[in-house]
Amino acid sequence: MIVLGFESSCDETGVALVCTEKGLLSHALHTQVAMHAAYGGVVPELASRDHVRRVIPLTRQVLSDANLSLQDVGAIAYTAGPGLAGALLVGASVAQSLAWSLSLPAIAIHHLEGHLLSPRLADPRPDFPFVALLVSGGHTQLMRVDDVGQYSLLGETMDDAAGEAFDKTAKLLGLGYPGGPALAKLAEQGDPTIISLPRPMLHSGNLDFSFSGLKTAVLTRLKDAQALSHVSETLSADLAAATQEAIVDVLVAKSIAALDQTGLKRLVVAGGVGANRALRQKLAVALKKRKAEVFFPPLELCTDNGAMIAFAAAQRIVRGLVDLSDQQHGFDVKPRWELAAI
Ligand code: ATP
Ligand code: MG
Ligand code: FE
Repeated sequence: MIVLGFESSCDETGVALVCTEKGLLSHALHTQVAMHAAYGGVVPELASRDHVRRVIPLTRQVLSDANLSLQDVGAIAYTAGPGLAGALLVGASVAQSLAWSLSLPAIAIHHLEGHLLSPRLADPRPDFPFVALLVSGGHTQLMRVDDVGQYSLLGETMDDAAGEAFDKTAKLLGLGYPGGPALAKLAEQGDPTIISLPRPMLHSGNLDFSFSGLKTAVLTRLKDAQALSHVSETLSADLAAATQEAIVDVLVAKSIAALDQTGLKRLVVAGGVGANRALRQKLAVALKKRKAEVFFPPLELCTDNGAMIAFAAAQRIVRGLVDLSDQQHGFDVKPRWELAAI
């Protein structure tokens, strides 16, 4: 069966076609990063309006790229939450109206389920069960994943998400929005050993995280340097390198602790920070030592996209978790929604 999927939870409009047998057929993405950059962050109303503009052209594009028409589609999936309410409503209403007009089932997908199953779009594909490290702009969680739809929370951040820590530190360093990739790039020129930053909750004895103190520590360093007129490109690069290393160290240590606690040997990394090269390298080395395996989504599918939403729905269909005869097309989005509760 062919699934058409829509993602519109934040600032990316993503549309994709996934076949339950053959996998990803086509996907298209429009990112609003340039539009929001002038404001230093996502402006919800602008995000919703832009989703409205992009969603139909992107749908035409994925159909044409896969050489298919709407008549070939067997089910329609969309991100129902969590995310920005207005943005979610765009994807939900387009998906529900299309499904209604074509007499197809509409499948509401949890955005984080999309992220955490997305490494199964890569080759080799991780089998269940596994530990998932979900590191995105809004979430930092360790989950035990026993199968599609079977998720239990092992630990999560008490405050900022890892992606948020990258973004906020990048902002302090004047790197613009979104800062994660920019901070990672600057970090390559810096020396992480010059400035020592805290590793929050490294020894907390549980699998929770805290990242908000990190940006405060960076801010303090910057203020000290500013007072002495010592802010230089070298200092910025060293701070970027130190920040990245502090975040990565904690993520790696807690991931290993989660594998120890669960006795599992597979770690799956998902979400935008999963694109970070330092994290990928350190995890690969640390897990090899422990004879465990680590899996990542294809690089382009780490951040938000439609492929992960269509793919999550396809896996739910294959597992018999979707009532395909359900033709109820009323809908609701869930801006706040716990993954473990689905
Ligand atoms: P959520 O999925 O929690 O709702 P989101 O959808 O905004 O949040 P994603 O799209 O998964 O999050 O990821 C975006 C985040 O990933 C941003 O915080 C961004 O800075 C970060 N990010 C992307 N690439 C990198 C990188 N190479 N290094 C570090 N962080 C990165
Ligand atoms: Mg985004
Ligand atoms: Fe996301």
